[in-house]
Amino acid sequence: MDVKVLRGFILAILVFAILVGVLCCDSVTQLHPPGELAKASENLSWYYIDVVFDPNTAKLICTQTVEYRNNHDVEFDRLYFHLYPNAFRDENRVPFLAEEKQRAYPNGFSPGWLDIEEVMINGNPVEFNVGGYSSNILSIVLGTPLRPGQMIEINMKYTVKIPNCIGRFGYGKHTFNVTNWYPIVCVYDHTGWNTDPYYPVGDPFYSDVANYQVNVKVPYDYTLAATGEILDVKAERAYKVWQFKALAVRDFAWIASQDFEVISRTVDGLTVYSYFLPSYKEEGVKALDYALTAVQIFNRRFGKYPYEHLSVVQADFFVGGMEYPCLVMIDRSLYSQDLQWLEYVTVHETAHQWWYAVVGNDQIDEPWLDEALTEYSTILYYENRYGENVGKEVYNRVIVDGKCSQLQKYYAQGFTSRIDQPVYKFKDWVTYDLVVYGKGASLFNDLRQAVGSQKFYGILQNYYRENKFKNANACDLIKACEKVTGKSWKYFFQKRLRSLNW
Ligand SMILES: [Zn+2]
Repeated sequence: MDVKVLRGFILAILVFAILVGVLCCDSVTQLHPPGELAKASENLSWYYIDVVFDPNTAKLICTQTVEYRNNHDVEFDRLYFHLYPNAFRDENRVPFLAEEKQRAYPNGFSPGWLDIEEVMINGNPVEFNVGGYSSNILSIVLGTPLRPGQMIEINMKYTVKIPNCIGRFGYGKHTFNVTNWYPIVCVYDHTGWNTDPYYPVGDPFYSDVANYQVNVKVPYDYTLAATGEILDVKAERAYKVWQFKALAVRDFAWIASQDFEVISRTVDGLTVYSYFLPSYKEEGVKALDYALTAVQIFNRRFGKYPYEHLSVVQADFFVGGMEYPCLVMIDRSLYSQDLQWLEYVTVHETAHQWWYAVVGNDQIDEPWLDEALTEYSTILYYENRYGENVGKEVYNRVIVDGKCSQLQKYYAQGFTSRIDQPVYKFKDWVTYDLVVYGKGASLFNDLRQAVGSQKFYGILQNYYRENKFKNANACDLIKACEKVTGKSWKYFFQKRLRSLNW
């Protein structure tokens, strides 16, 4: 996500914008082999979801089949799923800070939830339990243990209520933001099952890549932007059924509106779409240009984006921007302000496609890993697009003056925080922004100063290549540094990540 706190921002950008920089030729990445996505999709779990969407009641009637494959070396007798919509059921437990509630619910509190009606395995109803902090975890007893390499088919019926809320999940005047909306299997890792609740600070999500086939039946006058590629749109009386497919993605989000206009352009085998609301054509074109240019730069600098489309969506959303695989949502108010904000946020969310969508991580316990690198990647966009001086200018304004200097003031007042803290240790978005985005991005800048730009890009390429479609951790990043430089970087990272003040 791009936090709401983007202060002290880039006044000089537009002046420098005409000084278009040229991509340097060092460390240009290799194109990845053809069919990579098809190969990555082998042996993954599948989600088949059929949805009937009723905008009048803001409800989704869903049937879902999950073919879950146990790709771990332990047996499971239960499976756990996140039910994120239930975080929006109880007014006192919604994933917003007290000071955010007014903006999240401009029309007053409105509940959201997910009710499981039935769970079946091989056609037989099975025992299930819904529990956790806000009834956010579904656990299913498997009966027969699921051995390593085995697959199990689980069928569910459930109803989702979308709240009148302009956070990630909810609807406003123009858009229904259908994100983190279906039962998704929790990640099993060296710590066991990750069943964290929906925390209010950070992007508290952690998931494995899987394949998706999602059909959404909507009134005919709605347009959908989604994670998946559109296979077909079939007319059915007053409805349309949108059929989507997505291979090797770590989540599936969609946004629906009666008002969307859409434009697209294709570069490097990837089509970028810009969905915008009427009267924002000019800004919608700009958003497309920012995302498209960012894709070209990041393709060259980090490694090629494996998916074939990316949608930038203007949405009723009050927190700047938010990333999902192949889809980013942008606060619609950014389209009516100074466009330098729209550019920064669009590029930030586009960078998340590399650091979150392709290379995943535990965004609860190690939020800095994707967020700090994404923030620094945003700086790299300015440098690569507009030249070195603009890159430095943006870095100094946004990271140094806007965040690091502010953080120094907090530290001077006795505040302490290491970079590598889990999201739930942060009390508010301000300190989260200063520490994770600001201090975190400065870590990457210092790493670059230490190794030189060529090796720095080499490190990012190695990290990307070795961890795509997986969940990485700090050790994987350190490993990439060591591989490229032939030196140990453990002490550098430990010192920077763990220091309580600067
Ligand atoms: Zn972000």
